[in-house]
Amino acid sequence: MKPAENPRVIIRHCDDYDVEKIRTIVREGLNELGLKPFGRTLVKPNLVAAGELFPNAHTRPEFGEGVLRALKDVDDGKMTELLVGERCGITIPTRMAFAESGFDAMISKVGGVKRSYFDEETQVEVRYTHEGRLRDYVFTPEPVARADFFVNIPKFKSHPWTTVTFSMKNYIGIQDDRHRLIDHDHRLNEKVADLQYIIQPRFIAIDGIVAGEGRMLTPKPFPLKLIVMGDNQVAFDAVCCHIIGVDPREVEHIRLAEERGFGTTDLSRIQITGDVSLHDAQKRAKGFQVGLVRVEKYFEGTHITAYAGPPPERERTDYCWGGCPGAIEEAIEILRLFDEQTDEKLPRLHVVFGAYEGKIDAKPGEKVVFIGDCATWKGDLGGQLVQIENRYQNRDTRDPYHASADDIYKKMLHIRKALSKSAADPYVRLEGCPVSVAEQVLALVSLGHLKNPYLDPRAVLIFNKAYAGWRASTAFHRMTGHPYQKAGPAPRGDARPEMQPKPEG
Ligand code: SF4
Repeated sequence: MKPAENPRVIIRHCDDYDVEKIRTIVREGLNELGLKPFGRTLVKPNLVAAGELFPNAHTRPEFGEGVLRALKDVDDGKMTELLVGERCGITIPTRMAFAESGFDAMISKVGGVKRSYFDEETQVEVRYTHEGRLRDYVFTPEPVARADFFVNIPKFKSHPWTTVTFSMKNYIGIQDDRHRLIDHDHRLNEKVADLQYIIQPRFIAIDGIVAGEGRMLTPKPFPLKLIVMGDNQVAFDAVCCHIIGVDPREVEHIRLAEERGFGTTDLSRIQITGDVSLHDAQKRAKGFQVGLVRVEKYFEGTHITAYAGPPPERERTDYCWGGCPGAIEEAIEILRLFDEQTDEKLPRLHVVFGAYEGKIDAKPGEKVVFIGDCATWKGDLGGQLVQIENRYQNRDTRDPYHASADDIYKKMLHIRKALSKSAADPYVRLEGCPVSVAEQVLALVSLGHLKNPYLDPRAVLIFNKAYAGWRASTAFHRMTGHPYQKAGPAPRGDARPEMQPKPEG
């Protein structure tokens, strides 16, 4: 496969989640692209959040079923293994996302398909050698590093940190939490572009039947009625961007991948086929909202006033699009789902990000929350001189070998401790880079005496079952071998030269 050359994208109409319809469309797509699975075939959906309150956040199981059945249809005996793998988001065990999304039941129904919870797998080191990389090595779950035929099946959505989440951004789920949160900051787009060196998909099919607009975890449903398929990730994302009227070169991770030779965004060099023209797809997507809204604007008219200064490396950007500010936007939306009274219940709060230098308009009794290691500020709060120091540690000091991530119960303890320590103060500081969506949910729950979504009676049983399963599995892993595996030469880069990007032209 030569990922950068002669890219093809197929746009097909599909008006509902009928499995047989999806199967036929995907089978025809695979045939048109001349693709047949072989060896270890790994299918990667987007299951970032699932359950009855997150119906539009994830790739639908009917879509997954259509893809799995189509892969089986075109297999001519060379596929040795078929598995579905993912690491979901917001500190939920992936087992729960599989169960809640319906993927678990679907996989059992299809038969002959394995599950891979990436947060329970051995993590394999992959070396980077390309220019402009954020670090020299990262980790990815073993099934990703060893896949022969990688199939990416994202959800068509906008994203508050990276404008869109199509095929390339779906790669944030090919790392477990320890490694996913490293560089998940103002350089998130570079991280996503770097992840492209781990593996390239042979086939991509996006669930755009009901797309998600505005946000990432709690998007509004947008009936686009499309399945888009392709064999090159940059070209694929470029076409999806054009469908919603976004210039793909303005999306940093897509532009970087193009500059590094992974493919083209130039429509004149992409062969677009299917029963829906790009023009007609654009007409369907008219009015589709993307999610890039600064935090100050996002909270206008609510009990929260947000202030944002630049993150570290201010020569690169004046706003941390990939970290803490975007996380609080997702956090508040989750809370609104679980409790309609969220906005009324929240007391007046002030949240501060980055090196903010302006005034904080906090009245007596109003709490100021400094969020993130890079938060700095100096001034008067309630008659007290407050100086918040920068605790940001350069990324070079964060070694993926020593990365750790707390589970949700540890996060609850940490947040509770931080808030109770500062109960008498006019301000509190939440440390981390980033302070995750889950931690910001927990902080707002405590500050506003809101319903804790992680203890919601509708999900607590299934959560604890998944949590116990995850704990048992990872403990077994630790007892039976090292959870990390050093792969020597990059498993993809050196072993599979044909997967490396080819220079353009
Ligand atoms: S601490 Fe938060 S706001 Fe600051 S750089 Fe890290 S992720 Fe961005």
